Amino acid sequence: MTAALQSSTDVSCCESQALPDLRQCTTATRNACKLCTPLGACLVFKGVRGCIPFLHGSQGCATYIRRYLISHFREPMDIAASNFSEDTAVFGGAKNLQTGLRNVQRQYEPEVIGLATTCLSETIGEDMPAMVHEAREKVTPLPPVVHVSTASYRGSHVHGFHDAVKALVTQLATSTPPHERAALLPGMVSAADLRHLRELAAAFALPIALLPDYSDTLDGGTWSDYETIPAGGTTVAEISQIPGAPAVIELGATLVSRADTAACWLAEHFGTPRQALPLPIGIRHSDLLLEALSTVSGQPIPAELLAERGRLIDSIVDAHKVTFGKRAIVFGEADLVIGLTSFLCEIGILPVLCACGGKTGDFDVALRAAVPDLPAETQVRNGADFADITAEARELVPDLLVGNSKGYPLARELDIPLIRTGFPIHDRIGGQRVLHVGHRGAQCLFDSIANALLERKQTHSATGYSYL
Ligand code: SF4
Repeated sequence: MTAALQSSTDVSCCESQALPDLRQCTTATRNACKLCTPLGACLVFKGVRGCIPFLHGSQGCATYIRRYLISHFREPMDIAASNFSEDTAVFGGAKNLQTGLRNVQRQYEPEVIGLATTCLSETIGEDMPAMVHEAREKVTPLPPVVHVSTASYRGSHVHGFHDAVKALVTQLATSTPPHERAALLPGMVSAADLRHLRELAAAFALPIALLPDYSDTLDGGTWSDYETIPAGGTTVAEISQIPGAPAVIELGATLVSRADTAACWLAEHFGTPRQALPLPIGIRHSDLLLEALSTVSGQPIPAELLAERGRLIDSIVDAHKVTFGKRAIVFGEADLVIGLTSFLCEIGILPVLCACGGKTGDFDVALRAAVPDLPAETQVRNGADFADITAEARELVPDLLVGNSKGYPLARELDIPLIRTGFPIHDRIGGQRVLHVGHRGAQCLFDSIANALLERKQTHSATGYSYL
């Protein structure tokens, strides 16, 4: 028990920016390249309309997660907690759970409560289904409570994200007659990505249920009065009706070959057709999404989307001298790393190291399957921390880093650009508005990469050319 708790703390709570002597071999995680599992679940629950995330465990876990999400999204972040104390950790948290649910019901009147566990409640072995059942008898009224198990020592924030999506589907979906609204499970992408995915589906006149959809709840406008639960998100009705969808499009290269995802469960229990694709980052993977949307909608790819693709390719041709032959290190969530790596290969940049922070068993296989032109010499690291990445980076001499803002100390040490992508982005404004997906997202990424390389060249030029 002690080891498990210690491990979880090492993985996600340590925020040290120091980069110690990296040649000293250690079994501890140093400056983790992943975040805690219930964080991913909370993000999903923030994307369901009328939902309040609720952590069964210590208040500190909720504070840590809120702090992380707020500094990326810069929006209010209410996350309830059952607030374990010493005696709760010994005797169990059933009473705390009931009190917490009662308070949440009274203060927020939610349409659904997303209940995730923390390391502590998982370690003491709380029987959550039984406790939710008991709470339902003692706390009335109580909306649907969707429970997901999220011990952080078993996975990363991305595991928590996908597990929460599956929990929503398995606990809310019901047998539904066929209808026209397709389901799109986008994976952990930015608020701007979610908006663009909705735009792409609309371009095919295809109604969709996007699960989750935090594009409004975590990137909304100003309010005249405080909204306890921000407007927006996927409705419970939309989730419950997914079984009748013409297709469930599930995004994420590491999910493609798995048989235990949310879309797999829907296919198995309701026969809902599943289309599993990599995240649509770069040209080829965006093409795959457009083809899937065309197939599901029965519509040809709209001319404006083809024109956007054409502009992207033209810009790559125009700037090939800037990007070709450069060396990049990509790090972060597995599916995002795979998408970004694919795009870097398309624009002539050599990914010298692809590092995934969480332990994703088939990361190497999924990466090479999704990016068949990835050079054999590219280093691939699964479950890497920033000590590992830094040690390799010093040998590999990259021209740029592509990943979240936790890579900034390394970029500063190597004096190379960091192209901020994914989550978290704590040291810039607009992390939630970074567009990665679709040809439009590839265009944004390409311009950022090319201009960062030009800026570095200009900055280090003795002549100071103004025309590059
Ligand atoms: S759930 Fe675990 S890893 Fe996450 S903040 Fe709590 S103790 Fe730390």
